[in-house]
Amino acid sequence: MRIVLLGKPGSGKGTQAGRVREKFGYYHLSSGDVLRENISRGTDLGKKIEEHVRKGEIGPEKVITEAILQFMEKRGIEDELILDGFPRTLYQAEKLDEAYPPDLCLLLEISDRESVRRLSGRYICTDCGAPHRLKGGNQTARQCRECGGKLVQRKDDKPEAIETRLEVFREEVEPVISHYRKKNLLETLDGSLPPDEVYNNIRYSIMQIVGPN
Ligand SMILES: [Zn+2]
Repeated sequence: MRIVLLGKPGSGKGTQAGRVREKFGYYHLSSGDVLRENISRGTDLGKKIEEHVRKGEIGPEKVITEAILQFMEKRGIEDELILDGFPRTLYQAEKLDEAYPPDLCLLLEISDRESVRRLSGRYICTDCGAPHRLKGGNQTARQCRECGGKLVQRKDDKPEAIETRLEVFREEVEPVISHYRKKNLLETLDGSLPPDEVYNNIRYSIMQIVGPN
């Protein structure tokens, strides 16, 4: 069983993929983790990715595709997995189809407004990294519940960055969604529901294919 999980920023992909890993024992392949690992280990791929990032180039998609597919091959992670953050472009979806065709694509659907609302409330502690959810007011004055450290927003979660991420989603990920729809692999789920309900719907979709777990 190979699952591709798609959704706008803030749709809960990471959380839900984590639950699928826990309950089904599937490997949670987060493209962000693979890329960060390559960069921190200073691999050739990591260096290439860094170079692209430094030049501010959008979507070094071939390099990223190579990194992810190589990671899967080397670790023998070919089945029983849920992909989170990959494929993000049609090119990547086609490469994945050639190497490891998915059995199911789950789309966690939320509105742009919900995406902005969720991301703009996301803060992390600069000391211990604990995630926090805050609403309105002067957030920088708040302290970490765990350690009293300073709370900041990730650069990616600032309002201007969120707009860009939604635009990228429309331009790059929408074609991926259409691709899987055409292949009859797409299941659209309401990502605005509480996380437990979203997970139940995901579980149901998986069990339609693999049988009861
Ligand atoms: Zn802290």
